Amino acid sequence: MTTTLSKRLTLTSLFYCINKTVFITSQFEEYRKKKMSQTAQSWWFVFYKDELLLEKKENGTFALPYGEIPPVFMIEKTTVHDVTTLEGSNCKAFSLARPIEESAKYVLVGLRASYECLPVAHYQAAGKAHEILHWDRNSRFCSACGTPMEQKESIMKKCPNCGREVYPAISTAILVLVRKGDSILLVHARNFKGRFNSLVAGFLETGETLEECVAREVKEETGLDVKNITYFGNQPWPYPSGLMVGFIADYAGGEITLQDEELSSGDFYTRDHLPELPRKLSLARKMIDWWLDCSNK
Ligand SMILES: [Zn+2]
Repeated sequence: MTTTLSKRLTLTSLFYCINKTVFITSQFEEYRKKKMSQTAQSWWFVFYKDELLLEKKENGTFALPYGEIPPVFMIEKTTVHDVTTLEGSNCKAFSLARPIEESAKYVLVGLRASYECLPVAHYQAAGKAHEILHWDRNSRFCSACGTPMEQKESIMKKCPNCGREVYPAISTAILVLVRKGDSILLVHARNFKGRFNSLVAGFLETGETLEECVAREVKEETGLDVKNITYFGNQPWPYPSGLMVGFIADYAGGEITLQDEELSSGDFYTRDHLPELPRKLSLARKMIDWWLDCSNK
């Protein structure tokens, strides 16, 4: 409706027109949204547990499925989640109730392993999708009153009975690279999937600072004291929903006494006698590589 036209109208017809316009606009908006959701191209993050569906390309590489419709059959009542990314690309995620058989076109690959075959941005978005699906499965009922939760936004659910709001919870853990002269402390935790050695790590406890957590974890796991605790960097760790925060520290005293239930080995290693190291996707490896670079200069 143009301004000139609206000036000519009586108040009644103006109201009629405005109401009609609002009606038509909202109808059109609904139609447009429906059409958009039907036709918009999306990256699809389809998971069976922690395995991600990837498309096999002719040149032997893998890629995320991309298209207007889900790449594989979705059973009725499957919730499709919108996953927002920094780039603003359209991303959708859902879980499969059963694994799919590998076909000429698709294969399920572990999320960790997908790091090796996807661009980093896609691996990170897959991690976020995995965390949202994990959160969705584990927040079906209100923890205060037991009522089924309703999803209100892509990362918010609300209880229709008591109004409690829930968001995906993140478990914060620290990693610490402890330096002693020309060596660093590396440990093998019993829960590691493999023989590699890595940095001392542990979960942040209620009421402590990250630095206090670093000092406590090193003390508890190895019996050592540390000083000069400084921040290094952090990394989302979607296994299933964590944030790893890395620190560098210096040995301050004590003899290595391993916490037997958690660690099977632990010692100081010089750069020329390093054991098997964690894979490149981890912050721990990035920190060890940083130290190797520094000690090379
Ligand atoms: Zn409730």
